[in-house]
Amino acid sequence: MYLKKIEIPYHVYQYEVFIKRLKPGPLRDDLTSLYKRAMAGFRGEQSLDFPLSYLPNDDFFIFHDLRLFDGLHHFQIDFLVLCSRFALILEVKNIIGKLTFDTEFNQLIRELDDTTDVYDDPILQAEYLKTQLGEWLERHYGISIPIVDRVVIASSAQLQVTDLKSDKIKKIVRRAKLKAELLQLNQQFAKDYLSPETMKKIADQLLANHHPRVIKKFTTRLKPDDLIKGVQCPNCGTLSMIRKTRTWYCHSCDRTSKNAHIEALYDYLHIYGPKITNKKCREFLKFNAESTVKKLLHSFSERYEGGTKSRSYFLSKRLLKTR
Ligand SMILES: [Zn+2]
Repeated sequence: MYLKKIEIPYHVYQYEVFIKRLKPGPLRDDLTSLYKRAMAGFRGEQSLDFPLSYLPNDDFFIFHDLRLFDGLHHFQIDFLVLCSRFALILEVKNIIGKLTFDTEFNQLIRELDDTTDVYDDPILQAEYLKTQLGEWLERHYGISIPIVDRVVIASSAQLQVTDLKSDKIKKIVRRAKLKAELLQLNQQFAKDYLSPETMKKIADQLLANHHPRVIKKFTTRLKPDDLIKGVQCPNCGTLSMIRKTRTWYCHSCDRTSKNAHIEALYDYLHIYGPKITNKKCREFLKFNAESTVKKLLHSFSERYEGGTKSRSYFLSKRLLKTR
């Protein structure tokens, strides 16, 4: 069963918001290509839902996109599958073209049309994650459990390897083969290492220690005028709705919306983080009614700090999501 279901990661939503609100320029171009790459990766991960569904539901905990801290660095696991007998790490690649796994120089070479790109070796990445997770479990629980790592190719890329004799290439699994691989691993490991209580405890700790990736560095590249402020029309996408008698009105398409401000607050949260003041909110919404904005901030914030004049609110993703 999924304990952390397959979801678009937070930082990918951030890309989306920046692309929507940035004026054309190099920053928007960079973010657009990062977004496309991240979404292709996500779609590859999403496509593993089917083979993973063959695992006996009650025996296996599945975590999608888990990002843990080892005390020095974060490490991110596309899928972690945990049962009482072993843990499985899946590093997913959804790259099209011709892929060459160079196990000698630890690189993945992709040829597509007339271009050659070199990527980090996913086999090495998966091995690294295996070590990191092993140490994490050891440190938190004094537990050592067999950990298996696999690189799953979700695309229909043509695959080749530089060394057919290398043991490492056995770790590469095509998506179509994943179901068979999972069932084989399930048979291979017979000995129980974890009691149901320990498994539950580890699962809770994994979830509590998940640190979603949040991108802050773009805001340092951002000049105040780069972002388009305003409330976006849900019908035509124009970012210039105005407030008229308790509803938002779009000049471009003549439509109205009751809740268009919620999307704008959601955008604010993904750009600047949860902290916001009444003044900043009015600037962002391009709407200058202090008392209405105060009401909005109260209904979408989980808490606030400071006195009436200098109050800061903390927008809640959960409250905004109920929109
Ligand atoms: Zn409109």
